[in-house]
Amino acid sequence: MFIKTIERDKGRKLYLYSSQKREYNEIEGLPSIDQNNQHLRWNSLRNEWVFYSPVRQKRTFLPNVSNCPLCPSQKDGMKTDIPVSDYEIAVFDNRFSALSFNPPNIKFETKTEISSAYGSCEVISYSQDHNTKFQSLTIEHVSLLIKVWSDRFTKLMQNPNINYVIPFENKGKEIGVTLEHPHGQIYSMKIIPEIIKTQAKNQKIQNSVSNLINSLDNKLEIEKDENAISFVPPFARYPYEVWIAPFKRVDCANQLADKEIISIAKLLISSVKRLDHLFGKPMPYTMAVHFPPRGYENNFHHYISFQPMRRDTNKLKFLAGIEQITGLMLSDILPEDAAFKLKSLEID
Ligand SMILES: [Zn+2]
Repeated sequence: MFIKTIERDKGRKLYLYSSQKREYNEIEGLPSIDQNNQHLRWNSLRNEWVFYSPVRQKRTFLPNVSNCPLCPSQKDGMKTDIPVSDYEIAVFDNRFSALSFNPPNIKFETKTEISSAYGSCEVISYSQDHNTKFQSLTIEHVSLLIKVWSDRFTKLMQNPNINYVIPFENKGKEIGVTLEHPHGQIYSMKIIPEIIKTQAKNQKIQNSVSNLINSLDNKLEIEKDENAISFVPPFARYPYEVWIAPFKRVDCANQLADKEIISIAKLLISSVKRLDHLFGKPMPYTMAVHFPPRGYENNFHHYISFQPMRRDTNKLKFLAGIEQITGLMLSDILPEDAAFKLKSLEID
């Protein structure tokens, strides 16, 4: 894997990843904007931080292809956030970032505890092709993407003030995606969210994910080979929730061999195909790439999870009263039934 770093204005960075060494034609890109007012406030009733970032209200909303910030820039033409003529995978600091390595020093007349919004919000463009879909990417390209997630995790965690890194994707207008170009995001932060800490503790003390995979009821399996498996967890919180994990217990893909990464790439592609085939239309979902927060390294089983938001052809899963108020999830679909349906689908 090769990485070219380009320094943008106002301290932003652009990382261009490729499987082979390549040269880039640099072009003028979109200017950075001033960040202001980002900060965290402590909700002392729920024991959790709330992020505030007023600048995000102004972010680009569903632009057409001729105005897309994730397409390559054009010489004497469109300026984008990726100021080169072509690329394979690009990662850059979001222009509308909720977190920053130089956060503003905010002072409010409030007794509520305030913290600086330290960290980063990166955008990861999966491909230079605006109209491609995740499931149309080649196995080699998705393998590169898996390596990029792990590379950003490793590099961001080298900063001692960063304690948690989470690559994720929001897919579908139904859940508020503002750009159609295939992409995800990577947040790094100083805080470790409480629910993430709980899950990491359970991995460390009970070896939860490894045990789950090793003792999985075959009714919950969707697909597997000798290196990796896709399955519905027995306690799925979302309809048709899918997890993908290597059999080897590792923190991230840097500790996996190429053949193991290829197995995960195949399962990622087939899982997205299955979710899209389920109701004959694109499945809106969130996807998370789980890495250990600081303090839990070497006691973690890396995995990727899809949280699909459609429970029937014309029905979305909304997080309504009980979910929003208590955090408890109500699901209409049994995990065993979800796994059976996903497994039975004919995909090419
Ligand atoms: Zn685009």
